[in-house]
Amino acid sequence: MKVVHSFADARSAARYSRDGGGGKIGLVPTMGFLHEGHLSLMAQARRECGVVMMSLYVNPRQFNQSSDFDIYPRSFDRDRQLAAEAGVDVLFAPPTEEVYQPGESIMIEPGAVAASMEGRHRPGHFQGVALVVAKLLAGLGAERAYFGRKDAQQLAMIRQLTHDLCFPIEIVGCPTMREMDGLALSSRNFLIPAEHRETALGISRGLERAGRAVEAGERSADPLRRLVTATPASLEWQYVELADQHDASLLRTLDRPSFLAVAAKVADVRLIDNLFFDRCPDGLKVDRGIRLEAPSLLYQ
Ligand code: AMP
Repeated sequence: MKVVHSFADARSAARYSRDGGGGKIGLVPTMGFLHEGHLSLMAQARRECGVVMMSLYVNPRQFNQSSDFDIYPRSFDRDRQLAAEAGVDVLFAPPTEEVYQPGESIMIEPGAVAASMEGRHRPGHFQGVALVVAKLLAGLGAERAYFGRKDAQQLAMIRQLTHDLCFPIEIVGCPTMREMDGLALSSRNFLIPAEHRETALGISRGLERAGRAVEAGERSADPLRRLVTATPASLEWQYVELADQHDASLLRTLDRPSFLAVAAKVADVRLIDNLFFDRCPDGLKVDRGIRLEAPSLLYQ
């Protein structure tokens, strides 16, 4: 695995690997502190592409609170080893001076797709995500880029960005990986105090109640939203919404491919999770993601 720190070196390293082996260049953007969610994206890229590039950059522009940026977990050596084991060919780990250069003035306003849910609760977040993702998509020469369904609204925003800015890149959405107890994997899980773990599980259990109701025929958003929050756990809910998979607009009825998304705080750690509802030959299918069969490597 080649480790590079500039866009130019990343492009030539990927081109060099490709000239040797052929196939498409697949990009997996991450903020590091890798877990099985990230690794599943890399595994899918490995299966589908000739060259796998991973970017590792904790983007300060997408943190609407600098305290959140400061405590975001980081561990470069660990990430480098895990990426190499996952079959990554090129690890792009730029310093901030490479990503944001003096004299820049262009900003990206993602518009309606970013207006609700995360966009409403984290002002400026999606503008920061859009700018860094646009730089990665434009600057690295990948033909496919892999993103998790875990960040459902982000995935919709990135599809819209790719379409609107005419990037010749295919965006691939991958299932949410969960810990053995159902908690959606996130680098932030590492920050949840052990005594609050049970409270955090209220999120995935609430979604599971709603998922079962959908399977039993419920199609109205309000009862589904109430089922999610019907838990004794003392969670600080920020939102529970049903949204269109395509443009993230809020829905009152589950009548198209959509997702039920939540954000909640547990002991000051902000967590998000969702269920996807996909079309299938006999109607709708609930995508709950995939549970690990062993404890996550986050805790090793
Ligand atoms: P992050 O490092 O949190 O910015 O995430 C990098 C990529 O990994 C994004 O596309 C996320 O959606 C994806 N991701 C994060 N957590 C998970 C998960 N539990 N399952 C699948 N993908 C994930």
